[in-house]
Amino acid sequence: MQFKTKVIHAGLEHDKSTGAVITPLYLTSTYRQEEVAVHQGFEYSRTGNPTRKALEDSLAALENGPFALAFSSGMAAEHAVLSTLTPGDHVVACSDMYGGTYRLFEDVFKPLGLEFSYVGWDAAEFESAVKQNTKLFWIESPTNPLIHLIDIKAVSEIAGRNNIRLVIDNTFATPCFQQPLLLGASLVVHSTTKYIGGHSDLIGGALVVNDEEWYGKLKFLQNAIGAIPGAFDSWLMLRGIKTLAIRMKQHEENALKISGFLEKHPAVSEVYYPGLPTSPYHELARRQMNGFGGMVSFKMKDGNLKRANEFFKKLKIITLAESLGGVESLINYPAVMTHGSIPEKQRMAIGITNDLVRLSVGIEDSEDLIEELSLALS
Ligand SMILES: *Cc1c(COP(=O)(O)O)cnc(C)c1O
Repeated sequence: MQFKTKVIHAGLEHDKSTGAVITPLYLTSTYRQEEVAVHQGFEYSRTGNPTRKALEDSLAALENGPFALAFSSGMAAEHAVLSTLTPGDHVVACSDMYGGTYRLFEDVFKPLGLEFSYVGWDAAEFESAVKQNTKLFWIESPTNPLIHLIDIKAVSEIAGRNNIRLVIDNTFATPCFQQPLLLGASLVVHSTTKYIGGHSDLIGGALVVNDEEWYGKLKFLQNAIGAIPGAFDSWLMLRGIKTLAIRMKQHEENALKISGFLEKHPAVSEVYYPGLPTSPYHELARRQMNGFGGMVSFKMKDGNLKRANEFFKKLKIITLAESLGGVESLINYPAVMTHGSIPEKQRMAIGITNDLVRLSVGIEDSEDLIEELSLALS
């Protein structure tokens, strides 16, 4: 089945009792049992709920993985993955990544005895960072907020050779534009809050995993810890998925036009978007992705917090806000907002400087967006 068909049909079983075409919202905490100790599928909604199950089946199909699990947030999904490790285990991660993930590593799991190393974007750096106790490689591609790309196949080969599992946060690309399990990754993480939900109206997370044994542990943790999405949020995510393919196409079309506009603008010193033929990642993007995505970052010439605030105040359609991936365009100042939890020295070293702006390009008319950016940058 092609992706555009999968988003509409995968995971969907027409309701047997009514024939309902859309997965019903199962607002129930518990299920009547015919007999004690005879498993009928559902017993209690922390353990399993039919609306959530339809979402999990859909996500597994979209990512080409056998198993998926839905969580109450992207962070809850990440927490479950790290909870499968034990004190003394080592994780190698890319240094440009979501600030909350860095905080989860450093402030939650490091005190519990896990070790973390951070490397750049070159696959060889992952190999050099491997230690005897390395259990996971953790990457984002494209990264947040600098839109670096990592060669997933190359990193997965290094992981395979060293008996390490490769985790990839696929929030930015979505399965529409990148399917990491097909490139050798062991597990895909999503903040479904972003493109998968797609309408900035929910918080959610998900995991899609290749390995049955690891899935068993993660499923145990999903139930034992209990950070599950409610039925209504699961239903909203399923609804969002239906338009994922056409939304991503429009996000990309607009991002291509906007990045081209920004690249030529005299007030902009640098633009980060793999769709630009001038991007150092253009070739890699063509190789491992089916599209370039809707995230564009740029640096303002002589930019700083004051200059950025002047720019943001002139914007009307494009909204200054955390988050990304919704139908509306959102703009963000990573140094203080999404990546404020990374210590300044490290933030600067990575390149998350005070002139950096991240734009989640929405699906509005690109002419309106460009007109507004043009006015605000002048
Ligand atoms: C937002 C985000 C997360 C965290 O997800 P939440 O749903 O906010 O908990 C993780 N990774 C990336 C890349 C994100 O953008």
